[in-house]
Amino acid sequence: MTFEDFELNRQLLNAIEEAGYQSPTPIQEQAIPLVLGGHDVLGIAQTGTGKTAAYVLPILMKVKYAQGTDMRVLILAPTRELVMQIDEAIKQLAKYTDVRHVALYGGLGPKTQIETLQKGIDIIVATPGRFMDIYLKGEIGVKELKTLVLDEADKMMDMGFMPQIRKILEVIPSKKRQNLLFSATFPPRVENLSHEFLEFPHKVEVSPQATTASMVTQKLYQVPNFMTKINLLGMLMRDHETFKRTIIFCRSKEYADNIFKFLGRKVVGENKIRVIHANKGQNTRINSMEDFKEGNIQVLVATDVAARGIDIQMVSHVVNFDVPLIYEDYVHRIGRTGRANQTGEAITFMTEAEEYHIGKIEKLIKMSIPREPLPAELDVLDTPFVEKQIMLREIDEQRKREDPTFKGAFHEKKDFKVKAKEKEVKNKKQIIAGGKESRKGNFGKSSSSSGERKNRGAKKGGNSRKGRQ
Ligand code: AMP
Repeated sequence: MTFEDFELNRQLLNAIEEAGYQSPTPIQEQAIPLVLGGHDVLGIAQTGTGKTAAYVLPILMKVKYAQGTDMRVLILAPTRELVMQIDEAIKQLAKYTDVRHVALYGGLGPKTQIETLQKGIDIIVATPGRFMDIYLKGEIGVKELKTLVLDEADKMMDMGFMPQIRKILEVIPSKKRQNLLFSATFPPRVENLSHEFLEFPHKVEVSPQATTASMVTQKLYQVPNFMTKINLLGMLMRDHETFKRTIIFCRSKEYADNIFKFLGRKVVGENKIRVIHANKGQNTRINSMEDFKEGNIQVLVATDVAARGIDIQMVSHVVNFDVPLIYEDYVHRIGRTGRANQTGEAITFMTEAEEYHIGKIEKLIKMSIPREPLPAELDVLDTPFVEKQIMLREIDEQRKREDPTFKGAFHEKKDFKVKAKEKEVKNKKQIIAGGKESRKGNFGKSSSSSGERKNRGAKKGGNSRKGRQ
């Protein structure tokens, strides 16, 4: 099949050719005729499948040229990065038309965005919050709206945008509106939304839910602790020939910052690495992504939310510094590599306490991730007592979740400080009593100096636990 087979106009075909698209991707083959035919469409497709052009092309075909002053198309997406990316795709594909489009997102003042709107607009791409803000200022006319797209609907729901989306649905005209809903996954909540939002929809699905990009090679290292993860990461990233364009994912902003500092100072050099997360300013995030896209930097450290939807081609490796707790994020993370017919590799670091989550992920992706032995030259460090305790406790909680009758090795109500203290006293008593264990830890009577030491240890544990969340 070729793009000529769709009834697209010459302006679009020329732009497609210039964009370097040789033939439609599977989602485009299925969705373009349906959208052109005026149907409501439910598309289940991850980023990297060409889903943006799958709705942008037929929309541009319908919008054709600049007309009137009010928007005729509204595309809602969860993050500013995705909004910018969709707008960029429109810019590329609409280059031979005079269609007016704008990206509305937060993080910077709305002045320029409003000025663009005031000149007259055909297509708006927006995050739900920013759209509503500007609508409430009276700067958006909704009467001409003919097509509404919800992109990454699953993520919008995860991020709590449903109330805003409902408000938007209340204020826009519902008559004769074509609705398109795209989502990377299809959990029941998205299915419910599709019933509410779409009329007699046609469902198109390019790869079964949560299957991983077939071009991605996956591997898993079982690593005993945090510091060994750091050593392993350093070791891998030193090989900059192989890891030439790597995204490192981690769960929290704190981890992201620490990994960024460590690699920048000790391994790859500060000018070869960037970090993106929710606390980074809009411009910093955009510049970091541009630097990475242009190949100026070797490593991009990111949290899941910051990286959602970003389109970066030719990523050589994705490293999961930790296992994501939202299991679908695994699919999104590794989907960053192996795009547009490039092969890629996704490497995951897993501690004993994360094995449970890997089990769940393997169930979701319906395959097991091959385990790789740790490199022989890796400096494997002992697990500090506090970290070990935290991991055991996590494992305990996981077992309890699976088996409600399981009592657990830890008493539920005692907090970690108490437990660390109790354990130390117990150990001391064992030594004093020649290996015999007393039944109840009488930790209140420990000496003040050892008590202080214990508390410090426990406090550290408390912090690192927080950092993991
Ligand atoms: P998306 O899934 O929309 O995020 O698209 C992923 C990437 O694929 C984007 O960089 C698009 O420019 C690119 N792309 C979209 N359609 C095609 C196509 N038919 N052939 C080659 N690349 C494409």
